[in-house]
Amino acid sequence: MPASSYIIALGSNRRGRHGSPRAEVHAALAAIGGVRAWSRVHETAPLGPSIRRFANAVAWIDSDETPGALLVRLKAIERAFGRRRGQRWGARVIDLDIVLWSGGCQVAPGLVVPHPRYRERRFVLAPLAEIAPHWRDPVTGRATLPLLHAVDRRRPCA
Ligand code: ADP
Ligand code: MG
Repeated sequence: MPASSYIIALGSNRRGRHGSPRAEVHAALAAIGGVRAWSRVHETAPLGPSIRRFANAVAWIDSDETPGALLVRLKAIERAFGRRRGQRWGARVIDLDIVLWSGGCQVAPGLVVPHPRYRERRFVLAPLAEIAPHWRDPVTGRATLPLLHAVDRRRPCA
């Protein structure tokens, strides 16, 4: 049995050598390996100055890697897919984030797990609800579904 399970969030809003953002997400799933379950690919309106729509998905993977080792490998995949650092919210061929880890919390230089912003991100929570609706956030104690419902209840001006 692998030592750990992880939830990885995948996002793309730029064509790469595999094709459309959706194709980049599928290719990244294959590159990551150890995938036990994966969500649909959701098309999401962009958050920042980029005008392109995002393709987003999440995957549940089994791995013997530590969170730090997994992040190093995910960054290598991002580079291999042609991702350039720079515009944080801009166009990117692939973004791979560690959202959750079966071991709970991990804080190290350049790495915070659970991902500090996943609780507010519908584009993470909606696909996550498909494959891990009951996975509990170790920080707030809230599971995916209540977190998603809280985001859905939020009003821009209440
Ligand atoms: P974002 O994913 O927030 O759009 P980046 O992909 O450019 O931004 O990541 C910025 C940095 O966030 C990375 O260099 C990485 O070291 C750091 N980071 C911290 N925690 C995580 C995590 N859980 N998953 C992925 N990256 C993380
Ligand atoms: Mg990232």
